[in-house]
Amino acid sequence: MTWIVQSWSQVSVPLPPFAPGYAVAVVVDESGERAFAHVERRHVERLELGASGALGETSVSGREVTVFTPDGDGSSGAQVPVAIVTGSSRGIGRAIAIELAEAGFRVVVNSHDSHAEGDAVVESIVAAGGEAMYVAADVTAPSQVENMVDRAMAEYGRIDVLVNNAGITSDRRFANMTHEQWDTVISVNLTGTFNCTHAAVRHMARRGAGRVINISSIVGERGSVGQANYAASKGGVIALTKALAREYAPEGIIVNAIAPGYIDTHMLDTIPEGLLRSIVESIPAGRLGTVDDVAKMVKFLCSDDGAYVVGQVIDINGGL
Ligand code: NDP
Repeated sequence: MTWIVQSWSQVSVPLPPFAPGYAVAVVVDESGERAFAHVERRHVERLELGASGALGETSVSGREVTVFTPDGDGSSGAQVPVAIVTGSSRGIGRAIAIELAEAGFRVVVNSHDSHAEGDAVVESIVAAGGEAMYVAADVTAPSQVENMVDRAMAEYGRIDVLVNNAGITSDRRFANMTHEQWDTVISVNLTGTFNCTHAAVRHMARRGAGRVINISSIVGERGSVGQANYAASKGGVIALTKALAREYAPEGIIVNAIAPGYIDTHMLDTIPEGLLRSIVESIPAGRLGTVDDVAKMVKFLCSDDGAYVVGQVIDINGGL
């Protein structure tokens, strides 16, 4: 539906969490219905009385905000690329979501339980002039994943990038590892990657373009004591990546994996301090990786410059 700007005003003293420079607009549709909408700072220069555009919803601080995007210069509406980043309420996923938003993507931020943290990621993207929405979904549940993808299509109209980042550990020596520990880790890390890719890739196939980036792990390449479930799940993600890369490259969809080494996030909290110290000593670069080390590579793989990197596993591990 097309909405027309009836009046608008730029806000010089912003209400948190918005940054200065955004606008509020009164818009009207063909039937005469009116709406009051937020206009992102980067769209303000194209606002004028009578300008046409689209209405959408985004989540800011846990409440739905109506946003108006004027038609126009190719950076609005259906022209803006869209990325879904699973497990982006914190850690590596959060950094990827923010990096892609800065690169101009509309971002679907996702997590399972950490709703407030997910909203906070959306908030910081919107405050910096980007566009994002939070969708809670358990990647192990196909119906919730379908709902997330449907929301992305309904709000943003396209899916260009899927980053399968959601992941967990549940470590124990193999002899004591329970069937539940095995199933839970395989189900989030490997089946979750299948579920999300299965739901999103058909929308990419329809447009004949897309990028899927799977976050694996160095543990999926070389194993690790006490992590048989995690190693198998991440090794499976690598094999899935290679299979899908071959199947989908002819359709214009490029699939790659990233295998981080030890990245400084909440996930490392369970490693005893002494062991973590000896791990750092074994890293040739002499430090843990940062979330940005991974996020920058995701941005590259999503860019035109990354177009001929297909079916690869990119190690980001300080030389480990
Ligand atoms: P964190 O624990 O910091 O973040 C994990 C994210 O995944 C959270 O947003 C979490 O949200 C989400 N998540 C977990 N389970 C589900 C689920 N069932 N459905 C949807 N979201 C879920 O981890 P990292 O940032 O460290 O790790 C991110 C990825 O990188 C993982 O795949 C991990 O295996 C991989 N990796 C990490 C390394 C490291 O050293 N940190 C090294 C190598 C790989 P919520 O809790 O709300 O569900």
